[in-house]
Amino acid sequence: MSYDNNNVFARILRGELPCQKLYEDDATFAFLDIMPQSDGHSLVLPKEPAAVLADLSPAALQATMLTTQKLARAVQQATGAPGLRIAQFNGAVAGQTVPHVHFHIIPCYPQQELRAHARESADPAALAAMREKVVAALAALG
Ligand code: 5GP
Repeated sequence: MSYDNNNVFARILRGELPCQKLYEDDATFAFLDIMPQSDGHSLVLPKEPAAVLADLSPAALQATMLTTQKLARAVQQATGAPGLRIAQFNGAVAGQTVPHVHFHIIPCYPQQELRAHARESADPAALAAMREKVVAALAALG
């Protein structure tokens, strides 16, 4: 799949659009999903421009997986969720709506159905409060 330089995540990576940023290093970036399927739903992406997993270099994939594990620990600690779903979609037919590779970290809570994918925007204040908690958990985990 060819890469669209103006997709929404490319614009977030360039700082052209805001996000509730959780983490950044040389190769990866993480922020809260603006339409979370559950509280704490986070996204981890490589900085490398790639639409789907198959297009990603081995080094970028490795960095993204390591950041996904780091964020998964922090999100779980911050939310207290007993389980997490990690998801990654390739192509519109598979449910991908933003054509820049990313991993979803979706906390799962007892007796709570996940909300619909990319459907309803969260309250900005609730997202800001969640960001504080995840960033604090990341710092505590080191
Ligand atoms: P996909 O469907 O491509 O696997 O997931 C894209 C995700 O990005 C969706 O869960 C959607 O809610 C989220 N999303 C779409 N636009 C934005 C945005 O502008 N900011 C943030 N933070 N998340 C977004």
